[in-house]
Amino acid sequence: MKVLKFGGTSVGSVENINNVKNIIHNGEKKIVVLSAMSGTTNHLVAIANDIKDNKASEAVEKINVLQETYIAVVDQLLSDESINAQVKDYVSEVFQLLVASAKKTYSLQLENQILAQGELLSTYMVNCFLKQEGISSALLPALDFMKIDADKDPDMAHIKSHLKDSLDQAGDADIYITQGFICLDDQGAISNLQRGGSDYTATIIGAAVLAEEVQIWTDIDGMHNNDPRYVENTKPISNLSFEEAAELAYFGAKILHPQTVTPVRADNIPVRLKNTMNPLAFGTLINNDHSEIGVKAIAAKDNIIAIKIKSARMLQAYGFLKKVFEIFEVYQTPIDMITTSEVAVSLTIDDDKNLDKILNELEKIATIEVDRDQSIVCLVGHSIVNNQETYKLFQVLQDVKIRMISYGGSSNNISLLINSKDKIKTLSKLNDYLFELVTL
Ligand code: ASP
Ligand code: MG
Repeated sequence: MKVLKFGGTSVGSVENINNVKNIIHNGEKKIVVLSAMSGTTNHLVAIANDIKDNKASEAVEKINVLQETYIAVVDQLLSDESINAQVKDYVSEVFQLLVASAKKTYSLQLENQILAQGELLSTYMVNCFLKQEGISSALLPALDFMKIDADKDPDMAHIKSHLKDSLDQAGDADIYITQGFICLDDQGAISNLQRGGSDYTATIIGAAVLAEEVQIWTDIDGMHNNDPRYVENTKPISNLSFEEAAELAYFGAKILHPQTVTPVRADNIPVRLKNTMNPLAFGTLINNDHSEIGVKAIAAKDNIIAIKIKSARMLQAYGFLKKVFEIFEVYQTPIDMITTSEVAVSLTIDDDKNLDKILNELEKIATIEVDRDQSIVCLVGHSIVNNQETYKLFQVLQDVKIRMISYGGSSNNISLLINSKDKIKTLSKLNDYLFELVTL
């Protein structure tokens, strides 16, 4: 069985929902994971923020605006009168729940329930639309099987057994539709897999059913070799290994949720990135097949904070780094890059929630310098560290001030920390040299 995930744009208009129908209606049995319609989750976040700020009437206004857009989509999509009425009943139930939520006191639990409505709406609508079109489909409620544990990792044993039950209960159908993003937490309360989490849902399901392939359908022809928002003439990459895809997703390629390939990597289940608006394009295939040596892609991650920790206590001593890392562990803050010298260690984080507390602790053992507005530029490819041409990269970047370099951590990645204001220049220079073959 294949698992196909469609993102917000793919279900964001009647025209695109029709494209989705044409893609999935090919006689093969499949599980289809849907995001909320584009814009909906942002809108729901804004509603939850209003509730948090005790602005109930603003929240209700936003709820009404959203409800109108849904009614318009239902009317365009569903010409069958009874199906149209059935979906409108569902839509009105959802919006009554939202209005009731606006009058409650904010809690994370309430916010998570509000955020879940986007995927519940899109899946209900698309399932009914497929029925109207005479296609055999059934809904698999994600909350019946998708669960995370106390560490927020998927509870695979629970997911496998409950997904099997859900498939049995849904009965025979060609297409099983389920919600991306949403899940239950270890306490059984509604939660989610973080923003962009529908990709992760698809690969978790792919691993649970040992799918033949997981396809992520978006609005771009696969993963690009550079960031199309900042560099012209970027091109789709046809093949990536799981490791390369994981590095790119983590270091800024917005197309994939950073955890996407984790669940399917061990079983070598291929992940294919495809474009709903251009289904004939090859896209990107992620699997374990070995590929040519060289840099395949460049990505950048912004809002990085660099921390330099300097202490004479490091000199010829052991145990100092352990103390440093323990502080980050206590405050649950992941470290992205790290470089050391005999008397100092520089590292980067992108989560500043507990920065003040971390700095307080670090100051007890060292002198600290903090630089904000940094970006990590990450070069990803197969065996690039062993590539004899790699040294030229530094010639290309002669006039960019590089604050840190991470080279050799894995043979597939070279990361540079630069000031964010130099990011576009760095991405373009690397692009010219690596992909446009401009010589030095
Ligand atoms: N709807 C959620 C979001 O916008 C999940 C997703 O689209 O992947 O983040
Ligand atoms: Mg996404």
